[in-house]
This record gives sequence, structure tokens and C-alpha cells, in this order.
Amino acid sequence: MHAESIPKGMKKLTIPRSLRDPIRFAAVALALLFPAPHGPAQGLELPDFGSSADLVISPAQEYRLGREFMRSVHKALSVIEDPLLTDYLENLGNRLVAASATGAGRYHFFLIEDPSVNAFAGPDGHIGIFSGLVLTCENEGELAAVLAHEIAHVTQRHLIRSFEDQKRLSIPATAALIAAAILGAQVDTDLGAAAVAGIQAAAVQRQINFTREHEKEADRIGIAILAAAGFDPYVMPGFFERLARTNRTRESGAPEFLRTHPVTSSRTADALGRADLYGHQQRPDALRFHLVRASLRARALGSARKAIAYFQSQLRSKRYRNETAARYGYALGLARGNRIRAARAISDKLLARYPNQAEFMILEARLDAESGAASRAIKTLQTAVGLRPENLPLRIAYADILMAAGRPARALKTLEEVARRRPGKALIYQKMADAALKSGQTAAIHRYRAEKFYAEGDLKTAIRQLEIALRQPGLSYHDAARIQVRLDALKQEK
Ligand SMILES: [Zn+2]
Repeated sequence: MHAESIPKGMKKLTIPRSLRDPIRFAAVALALLFPAPHGPAQGLELPDFGSSADLVISPAQEYRLGREFMRSVHKALSVIEDPLLTDYLENLGNRLVAASATGAGRYHFFLIEDPSVNAFAGPDGHIGIFSGLVLTCENEGELAAVLAHEIAHVTQRHLIRSFEDQKRLSIPATAALIAAAILGAQVDTDLGAAAVAGIQAAAVQRQINFTREHEKEADRIGIAILAAAGFDPYVMPGFFERLARTNRTRESGAPEFLRTHPVTSSRTADALGRADLYGHQQRPDALRFHLVRASLRARALGSARKAIAYFQSQLRSKRYRNETAARYGYALGLARGNRIRAARAISDKLLARYPNQAEFMILEARLDAESGAASRAIKTLQTAVGLRPENLPLRIAYADILMAAGRPARALKTLEEVARRRPGKALIYQKMADAALKSGQTAAIHRYRAEKFYAEGDLKTAIRQLEIALRQPGLSYHDAARIQVRLDALKQEK
């Protein structure tokens, strides 16, 4: 386990030496943790990297790069679409962003269904966290530490700064390069065999050579973000030590990020020194973190039977980190196994104790709907949305229940509000297209399908869908004008 080791996904590549130089590039992959030893803490000033990063790539180019990159992500990995899970990660991520020195910027946080202990920062603020990493975290601070590290890669523009030699590469080629380096993804063969080999070779090479300094800086800045957001900065070195310790006793090999970022005593010392600048912070452990973990665990276990057995045994032996979360996981397993009444008994108790917890309101409504009490479910969620209008998972669940109850027009209205508040989510547009289909709004079907494809990075199909939408008979002048405006915008982007 050395810094030179090649990340798992890249292992099988053999790299002709002649290909190593022509395309030089850096992927700042993932990987938590820690810097190479660099002496005692050096103060908090940000490194001076001048403005060269701003010259390398325009915001519009970076946006396109981010979209291309996400297309590769969706091809190579399974992105979790569960509104409750993604909403939690986005909230935590945005809280950390707000505490960073820049305080804003374009970020997209998403979860990947994958047991690897891994995370990465792609172009345009696309930060991916693997479910295996969340399951490894014992408290919210540890997850926040990983996010803070990845956010620091973005604030320091590490990925973009490593492009300085790369201006001659096209956006798709660059995106492919990043995907290959970060995800170990197959490079798009449309680019031509030689380009593909060169890209893969360069990706490996640069990942080996160029990440150390960036990792070091990401840890430094990450600890500052963590402390500013009210998390205990010591969780970073603590988490990192625990992983290394676990790693020594396990046979299945190191977590992904330990492969590229070995834990040494001097690294731990360095991170501790950095944390000393801020001091300990007490923070109550967030229930939501544990609920998200229980939900991810239930998903990871695969079958309802396994999930039920897992949480049942946790509750019997009292071996859980959070009892409420263990009960929630148990109820999720029961619900999935269609044991509605048993799930309902637990869900009632959870809701009685935490009447405003969106997770429990949604579970309760789902169980109601599945046991034929749709109108009760609708009422529960309608009230909940009224009380917490900013909570998007509640709105989405409300729309789902409306759809299931045969009220697609109302569902579509609810989803339109979700999309207005949080644009760009493929899942929402898919639901909107379904609702439009069920309520017979033909132009809207294609309009929302177009947005779904656009959100997934498929510009060509998005344009085609808009063209179909325009051809629908009976289109109002207003709707036609709106579709035309969107079509023009997408064509221009192309
Ligand atoms: Zn990193």
C-alpha cells in the first residue's frame, strides 16, 4: 500500500511507454485523506495559486465538462435516486460549502450504490460519495470530513488546474480522460483507439504523479471547512486512523482511498496538528445521518429477508449505534417484504416520538397507501408539505402517492413545484413525464422527457423530444413559445 499504487479500476491497463507523455493530465481522484508529511501546521492562509486556473477553462466549458463527466458516471456507476438519501447528502454538503472560504459555488452531491469505500470530486463541483463509504462512517462528522476534503478539491480548483497543458484536448476527450482516471471507467471508443489508449495511459500516469500535493492541500482546507461548519476537526484524523486499523485486520484489501493515500504516523500527526488549530467541538449526533445509513444498509443487503434478519438481530442484541435508526431499518425491511402490519406497528411508534421527521412521515404514508388507505396517506403528506414547504422529499412522496391514487394532474402540479425549486433532476422529470402521460398532456410528456434526457447529459435526444413536443396538435401559443425558447437554448448549447 504505497502512494504509487494504481487505483483498483485501472489495474488491468498496460501502458505503452510511448503513450505516457503526449497527453498529460491530472485527475484528482477521490480519496480521502491525508497529505504527505509536510512538517508542523503552517497557518491557515490559502495557497497562492494565482489566476492561472481561471485562464485554463471558461465557466461555460467547465459546465459542459461537468455534464459530459456525469454522463460517464451514469454509464459506469449506479447513482442513487432516492429523494430522502440525496436530499440528506445535498444538505450536509451545502452546509459545508457555506462554511468554506468561498462560501458558494456550483456543487452537485450524489450517492453511488457501491460497497467500495470511496469518494471523488469531478469537474464542475460534481462530488460523488459511495454508499460503502457512508456505511463505514460511524458518525456524521466522519462523512462531513470526507465531503469537506472533496469540497476543498473543488474550491482549490485542483482538477482544472491540472489542465494547464491540456488546452488542445476537446471537451469530450477531456471528460473521458477524467472519467477514466476517477472512475476507472471505460473510455468512450468514439474518440478513436489511439486517443483512448493515450487517455488511459495519461490518466494513470497523472494520477500517480500529481495527486499528492493536491491531497495535502485538500486535507488542510478540508479541516478548516469542517471546523467552520461546527464539526469536530479531530474526526478527520480519527476516521483516517480507524480505517487504517481496520485495514490491517481485513483480508479483502484496502479501501479504495487508502490504496492511493496510505496512512502513516506522520500524516496522522500532521492532521492532528492542523486540527489543534481549531480545537475540539461538541456536536450532537444527527439522527438523520443514522436513518440514511439504515436505509443504505437495507438497500445493500439486497433482499427484504436479509434486511429484516439484520436489523432484528441488531435490536435483539442491542448492538446498534442508534436504536431509532435500527428500528427504522427494520421497518423498511418489513415494508419491502410486504409485512405491512408489522412495519406499521414500528412506524407508528417512530412517528409518535418524532412527529416531524420526514423519513417517518413518508414511511407511514407509504404503508397507508399499500394497505388501501390512500386518502389517509394523501392527507398525511398534504399536511406535511404544508408544514414544511421546503422539504422536497415530502413533496416527491406526496406526488408518488397522488399518482398511485390515480390523480396524475395533481401529482404533476406538485412535481412542477419540486422542479422549480430544484431543477436538473432526471428522476423528477421522469416522474413528470409519467404524470403527463397519465393525465393525457401529450406535449408535456415530451417536454419533460426532454428535460430528463438533458439532465442525463443526452442533448441530442433532448432536442428531438422538444421537436416532437412542438408538433403536438392543440398546443397553446404560450406553451409553443416556451418549448421553442428551450429548444433554441439547447440547440445553441450543442
Ligand atoms: Zn482527495
